[in-house]
Amino acid sequence: MSVDLNFRDFFHPVSILKLRRFLEKSQWFSQEKLQRYQLNRLRVILSHAYENVPYYRSLFSELQFNPQDVTSLDDLKKIPILTKDIVRKNFNILIARNAKSFNPVLTRTSGTSGESVEFYLDRPSNILEFCYYWRYWSWAGYRIGDTFAEFGNFYFLTHREDIHKIHHFNPFTKRLILNGILFSYENIDKYIEVIDKHKPLFLKGLASTLYIFALFLKKRGQSNLSFKAVFSTGEMLIESQRAVIEEVFQCKVFDSYGHMERTVAISECPNGGYHINLEYGIMEIEQQKNSNEESRIGRIIGTSLHNFSMPLLRYDVGDLVEIKKESIYCSCKRGLPLIGKIHGRQEDSVITPDGRVLTSIYMIFELVEDIEFGQIIQKDKNRLVLRIVKKESYSAESETKLLSIVRDFVGDIMKIDIDYTNIEEIKKQDSHKFRVVVSNCKWDMN
Ligand SMILES: [Zn+2]
Repeated sequence: MSVDLNFRDFFHPVSILKLRRFLEKSQWFSQEKLQRYQLNRLRVILSHAYENVPYYRSLFSELQFNPQDVTSLDDLKKIPILTKDIVRKNFNILIARNAKSFNPVLTRTSGTSGESVEFYLDRPSNILEFCYYWRYWSWAGYRIGDTFAEFGNFYFLTHREDIHKIHHFNPFTKRLILNGILFSYENIDKYIEVIDKHKPLFLKGLASTLYIFALFLKKRGQSNLSFKAVFSTGEMLIESQRAVIEEVFQCKVFDSYGHMERTVAISECPNGGYHINLEYGIMEIEQQKNSNEESRIGRIIGTSLHNFSMPLLRYDVGDLVEIKKESIYCSCKRGLPLIGKIHGRQEDSVITPDGRVLTSIYMIFELVEDIEFGQIIQKDKNRLVLRIVKKESYSAESETKLLSIVRDFVGDIMKIDIDYTNIEEIKKQDSHKFRVVVSNCKWDMN
């Protein structure tokens, strides 16, 4: 769910500047004006889906749904919800016939449910992503060219010559990537050293990584690390975590919610409001059937307004959100409406025998094909169990690749067992409390 911005992929200056200028203005539009924008974009994407996407061509015909007749955002509800299962089963017919003209890239996520899903993201969607982040970060004072630090693993796993390095700095993008695989209390001075050297104004990471980093610094006793702002992403940020991070880094945490399929984006403003970015996609909240007046919790249903190669309409993201009981308007005066709490991903960390704290080991399932479902269970300090549901295409090579990537994370000492299971066994677990990573070991502050 964390999204890596690779500036190379976004080098389309005219389109970027145009969208950037629009988003700068549109955040102050009234909600009515923003919804008119959504309706116009929706008509475009629905017509495209009808003309070019075989799955929607036959679905709309069956429903006698004509995109030309759409006059309000409510008309979208005439289309049934798109589950991850439907995406998996209809993958080929969900790809637009003219997808190539949008430069699509195949992407994979295991999401919060552990079930793998593949989809295409394209150039218009990348341009949106770039401009969305630019606007969101600028709420915290970011300007293009500012040095920016972030915890990440992807770079190090794909540049194996650097896997034992604590950081990678790109002088062109001014991006300082801190190696999450080496994250331990013993290595803390190495992280402080590179941050001191490059002096980034901002720090970004998973809520749990930022929190544990702050705890490490607290335990160490002395650090002068401070930032203009810290960006928390990819996981649910608990208020007690936020307090520790803000205290240690002497700045505000800006929290956000997004997902790899890019249908909705929620980001926190300087006044603490969680804003739904209406220009990004259409977010509906499907009320839980058993929820009463009090709970007001619902599932996030998202419709992408910018991804043409594989448009996802009314996509069941798999995360829950709380509807805001009070005003949906923010004191910052932005027209983007507010929501309450986001119940996103919450994972345990794996603690390795050499004391490293692996907060994002769940990403292994985004790197190995042929896995339908994956879960990681740390039984004790020295033993990890991978629960895997294979796809038909899973082979001996898939297993070798999986084990090699897990070894990159955990090192040579841990025993790794694979428990091949089936989806029925997995679904016996309560999906709301489901974790991709379950650990019996906790990092000890003392
Ligand atoms: Zn606000």
